[in-house]
Amino acid sequence: LMSELKALYQELILDHNKTPRNFRKMADASKTVEGYNPLCGDHYTIYLKLNGDTVQDISFTGSGCAISKASASVMSSLVKGKTTAEAERLFSMFHQLVTGEMRGEEHLDELGKLAAFSGVSEYPARVKCASLAWHSMKSALETNVATVSTE
Ligand code: ZN
Repeated sequence: LMSELKALYQELILDHNKTPRNFRKMADASKTVEGYNPLCGDHYTIYLKLNGDTVQDISFTGSGCAISKASASVMSSLVKGKTTAEAERLFSMFHQLVTGEMRGEEHLDELGKLAAFSGVSEYPARVKCASLAWHSMKSALETNVATVSTE
């Protein structure tokens, strides 16, 4: 079963790398955060549009390795439409997963698509790749985004 799951996860990562979701600039973003991982050369810009407490829209542009791009794509599709509290909870779950604090196979239902990144914790160099977009999203949430830039 685990090897079937691994193949499925591999497929999901390849798919999101090849056809990243929400891969576009956002002209009217509330917040724009740049994320850079010098170890690998991953470089992304995350755009976030908040409507009250809800992440109304999220998108990204940039380039990097397959893991970093797939992770940014999955992150954007999961966080879109969620409240900021839910987005923070997803961040925390993903962080625990890739740092090995949470054993993925014990939380498959809860993890959903995030489970595809379970294997990352075995490759310390890849943890930064997988986390880049998530850290950028989190810092966008934490910074003061009260002013929406419409100009
Ligand atoms: Zn990378």
